[in-house]
Amino acid sequence: MVLKVKKSAEKKFRKGYPLIQEEDLFDFPKTRQWVEFCDHTGAYLATGYLGSQNKGVGWLISWSKEVIDESFFTNRFQIAKARRKSYYHDKTTTAFRIFNGEGDGLGGVTVDLYGEYALFSWYNETLYSHREMLLAAFIKAYPEILGIYEKVRFPASNVPESQHVQGQEAPEPLFIKENGIHYAVYLNEGLMTGIFLDQKEVRGRLATGLAQGKRVLNMFSYTGAFSVAAAMGGAVATTSVDLAKRSLAKTQEQFAANGIDPESQKVHVMDVFSYFAYAKKKGLLFDVIVLDPPSFARNKKQVFSVHKNYGELIKDSLPILAPGGMIIASTNAANLSRERFKKNIETAFKESGAKFTLLEEHHLPEDFGLSAAFPEGDYLKVYFYQVD
Ligand code: SAH
Repeated sequence: MVLKVKKSAEKKFRKGYPLIQEEDLFDFPKTRQWVEFCDHTGAYLATGYLGSQNKGVGWLISWSKEVIDESFFTNRFQIAKARRKSYYHDKTTTAFRIFNGEGDGLGGVTVDLYGEYALFSWYNETLYSHREMLLAAFIKAYPEILGIYEKVRFPASNVPESQHVQGQEAPEPLFIKENGIHYAVYLNEGLMTGIFLDQKEVRGRLATGLAQGKRVLNMFSYTGAFSVAAAMGGAVATTSVDLAKRSLAKTQEQFAANGIDPESQKVHVMDVFSYFAYAKKKGLLFDVIVLDPPSFARNKKQVFSVHKNYGELIKDSLPILAPGGMIIASTNAANLSRERFKKNIETAFKESGAKFTLLEEHHLPEDFGLSAAFPEGDYLKVYFYQVD
């Protein structure tokens, strides 16, 4: 099938921009086939597919008139593998992203390696309909993989959101390593595994000096991965706060996996705003506070959105931050710009009369490889501030 794109979109597509938006096309035939896109003169532009997902309505995947078949995908997986050589050589890190969607030339799917197991995340139904071919192509590039799992991240009534796909099943939990620290992961429990691999650099900083001798508070702690990295990096105390009941057992499991007595570390199952009030009343002080909320959360009492409420997290942190302490401000909200996020944080500092210095800025790590034509793929924004 050949589809004409609007004149307004020709230039960006020619330059390699991979994401197709609704306004770029005249019509959207319901097809799962590969599509050739052409310009207003009918000349070939690129090959791709239509499939709506959390962003856009399809992806361009090739800029030459090549056949899209199993070997096309094997080649993409092999190139992605070669790009991550340094990770394979590093025996202290056994979990990382091995295929990053459009960053590796195929928008709509990502693959993460967890030890000897691979986990696919599918973002649209069209690509999912080519799943058998993609899995076969993947196995050719990764014959050493013991088993494959998948997460379905688009609305689908006929497939489970998480399942084992083929090969061996992983132990539960499966212990992976990152910078030599062990983390327990579960490859088949809902959409999340117990660790967010995109934060490996920040955990790395906590593990290798930044947390040494420090009292660390980890807000929105989930399974406590930042707390474990901090404790392994010499933190004198860690406190993890998360609303979810599961977080207590999951966090204790992470500490135990590293030979740290879970009882020696604090875990509070509660709302972060209630914890801020409690800690302030008690006169508690922390040297490092990590603020890594979900983009959006609704609980019984309130709605939290990174866009609207991040400043409140900063303001509430200040009374319990020791002089000269550090705030690690993080968000994975793709629709919030770097500048805007930074401004929200710094406005909150200014409004509180705090003196602040930006020390570090982190982006997605190398394994979350980006495409130069699609810089907005870099959704992770982390800022380290020292506050006096
Ligand atoms: N920082 C974590 C990931 C956070 S995921 C890490 O790097 O591993 C978001 C977490 O925020 C979830 O575990 C969710 O339970 C928790 N959460 C959402 N709203 C909350 C609130 N108001 N108070 C405390 N925790 C909250």
